[in-house]
Amino acid sequence: MLTSVAESVVRPRPAYRTFRAAVARAERLSPHFVRVTFAGEELADFGTAGLDQRVKLVFPIEGRGFADFPAGEDWYRAWRELPADRRNAFRTYTVRAVRPGRREVDVDFALHGDLGPASAWAARASEGDELLIIGPDERSPERTVGIDFRPGAVDTVLLAGDETAAPAICAILEQLPADASGAALIEVPSPADVLQVAAPEGVEVRWLARSSADAVHGERLVPAVRDWVARATTPIDDRPATDAAADASAAALSAAELADGDDVPLWDVPEGRSLDGACYAWLAGEASVITSLRRFLVRDAGLDRRQVAFMGYWRRGRAELE
Ligand SMILES: Cc1cc2nc3c(=O)[nH]c(=O)nc-3n(C[C@H](O)[C@H](O)[C@H](O)COP(=O)(O)OP(=O)(O)OC[C@H]3O[C@@H](n4cnc5c(N)ncnc54)[C@H](O)[C@@H]3O)c2cc1C
Repeated sequence: MLTSVAESVVRPRPAYRTFRAAVARAERLSPHFVRVTFAGEELADFGTAGLDQRVKLVFPIEGRGFADFPAGEDWYRAWRELPADRRNAFRTYTVRAVRPGRREVDVDFALHGDLGPASAWAARASEGDELLIIGPDERSPERTVGIDFRPGAVDTVLLAGDETAAPAICAILEQLPADASGAALIEVPSPADVLQVAAPEGVEVRWLARSSADAVHGERLVPAVRDWVARATTPIDDRPATDAAADASAAALSAAELADGDDVPLWDVPEGRSLDGACYAWLAGEASVITSLRRFLVRDAGLDRRQVAFMGYWRRGRAELE
């Protein structure tokens, strides 16, 4: 007994655990976004820290559900040892909202067809469908480990991403202090995918719809970031955004900048630290677009790389690595 008490003192509750949940409702927000609200008794303890809190969603195997999915902290090692046909697919998503009192969690899925298990599942999600969420435990002292937005004390914040980053950007915007300043630039598949989000008055929010279904990711985002950086040298309010400026910058976009590279890092999240008077940039979305934006901000715009968090959320032509 004494030993187990001592162990529970030195060993904190794990940051993440598996929550069983079922779809309470699925709401089509726009042509390419569906908000799935999960409910379940276990969600009473789900972490509420918000921002860009990431989770893993585990999808059922037809006819077997979650019978084979390993329990416990060491689930990943055990999962890898299973035969391929008994390994549940899982993918990484962002918590859009948590309502512990109602035992509910919202996740916004960007739909991209039936190519991947997550998008295919979300497009058909309906009340009662079961799913496992590997997410933060509110009772753990380390419940914020899955949060990468760590700006420290800065004057200006730049949030930039594609539709997969829209849920994180919206959640961050809603939690920024009222006196925050900066911009949120969010590229989405079509004009009908513009969502409503509350943001501090000093943060310019621009939804950037791609020109067509065949347009490359980054088509609007890359020029918009360049445009914002150019305007940010003077007070933002003095120079309203223009699509013409964005289009001009688009012409300067080289194919090489959007090229896929295997040898470049796809993820770097600096530790939060005080950068008085500086800008903190948070970039997430398709990996080649995000790495090119990071390169631009560090090499051309002169930001210290410790001011730039960049996250390749997905890679064109590749399923998420499991
Ligand atoms: C920390 C983190 C947070 C994330 N949060 C969210 C979120 O809240 N909402 C969200 O929608 N996504 C989010 N993503 C991205 C999501 O995990 C990927 O898009 C994932 O690949 C989707 O899985 P899938 O099973 O649909 O496709 P996969 O099986 O992984 O991929 C199949 C094919 O689809 C392509 N593909 C994947 N995603 C897209 C896309 N969006 N558009 C076009 N093609 C694509 C791949 O390149 C591949 O060719 C997040 C990723 C990370 C790492």
